[in-house]
Amino acid sequence: MALTRTIWKNSFTVKSVPRFPCPVCQIGFLTASESDFQIVESEKSKSWHTDDSWDPICIVGSFSVKLTCENSHCMESTFLIGKMDVDQEPYFDEYDQYSGQDYVTYLSPLFFFPGIPILDIDPNVPAEVKKLIDESYQTYWVDLAACANKIRMVIESIISNQRISQYVKNQKQKRQILPLHQRITEFGIKKPKEANLLMAIKWIGNSGSHLGDNLVKNN
Ligand SMILES: [Zn+2]
Repeated sequence: MALTRTIWKNSFTVKSVPRFPCPVCQIGFLTASESDFQIVESEKSKSWHTDDSWDPICIVGSFSVKLTCENSHCMESTFLIGKMDVDQEPYFDEYDQYSGQDYVTYLSPLFFFPGIPILDIDPNVPAEVKKLIDESYQTYWVDLAACANKIRMVIESIISNQRISQYVKNQKQKRQILPLHQRITEFGIKKPKEANLLMAIKWIGNSGSHLGDNLVKNN
């Protein structure tokens, strides 16, 4: 399934729903019409309307939608919930001339169930590695740091599958845990190209572990 990077990091509008891949068949894409969306402004947001400085861009709330797979052999449902807010966007006339600003309602995904696939996974990937990757999808939208930690676990699992030991004996012949960095380096002796890739991905896992690091969906 060909995936575009942009759908994994942006908010969207009801008129421009991204083509999220179906988590069940992983062949079709999920669709929804405008009437499938439930968009609710929070009560707190409503209470701000009487402020003198109130503007529609102050509006915040939540949304939910049932997405349906367009693959006629699947047609499974996926539920999505998320945040809603309003922003201004320029609009243009038929001659592409700037005509003013419009208020637009934006929707930001927080949770898909079932979790939608973010990566193309090779069928030869071991089941335990695939399971960890699938679990990382659940946390991607709502908790990027937790997702990054899950990715680190995926790397640990890949390395273990390549029979790189998790332990090493120290000078006193006592068993101690080998840091992931060293395990990847050891893996690199056999497969340098793959090890370089894992080292790059490990950086994401590190960012997830250290609060304050600026991990964003672009990574
Ligand atoms: Zn499907």
